[in-house]
Amino acid sequence: MRKPVIAGNWKMYKTLSDSVDTALALKPLVANANHCEVIIAPVFTALKTVCDRLEGSNIKVAAQDCSTEKEEGAHTGEVAAFMLRDVGVRYVIVGHSERRQFYAETDEQVNRKVQAGLAAGLSVIMCVGETLAQREEGSAQDVVSRQLIGGLGGLTASDLDRIIVAYEPVWAIGTGRTATPEQAQEMHAFIRRVFADRHSQDAADALRILYGGSVKPDNIVGLMAQADIDGALVGGASLKADSFAQIVNYRV
Ligand code: PEP
Repeated sequence: MRKPVIAGNWKMYKTLSDSVDTALALKPLVANANHCEVIIAPVFTALKTVCDRLEGSNIKVAAQDCSTEKEEGAHTGEVAAFMLRDVGVRYVIVGHSERRQFYAETDEQVNRKVQAGLAAGLSVIMCVGETLAQREEGSAQDVVSRQLIGGLGGLTASDLDRIIVAYEPVWAIGTGRTATPEQAQEMHAFIRRVFADRHSQDAADALRILYGGSVKPDNIVGLMAQADIDGALVGGASLKADSFAQIVNYRV
């Protein structure tokens, strides 16, 4: 039985005090959500305070990125995964399409971030997803399988239970245009098959695959009803405590 994960990616929004206010507003609204793991991903500068203020609650904190480097050193502007772990972070999002698109992040870099996150004891949410042009030219599955295989190379069987994959079609992120539940299900089932071929059927059966792309309170139920959709990575609708809580508190 795969425990669903509902994760909110706050991107580059919110000051420290806004982050704390939203986190504290969310806390009572999701306090009874035992059916899923609840995660929020504030900006780096808010991570420590938000972790402290959420201690003892059922909300876990993710970072939105980490360095490819595992050790401390001369890497100006970078934050190592073990430093995130040090302030109470439990998850790290890597390979988000905004990092791939705007910061030219490659699968090789994503893989190094996955390895760094795992080595630091974090669970890793690795994002994959095709652009609209790639979907229209019929290469969506090729793109997603390349990202999956490239991003998850070199992992051992014991690493796999700390891997979560987020399928986020780029054309659905922040656009208000969601993949239909059937489109998402088709790609999620494909991801699970690729994972089974690379690793094992048991590992694939246990893998949580989240959907991301304009998830809202009014479409979460249809998405969660799909056999291979194990949760959501939510951007815009996670910025307000009440809309994110409605998504967390979905019931199929
Ligand atoms: C995201 O940031 O990962 C995302 C899916 O954004 P949105 O929900 O706004 O489309």
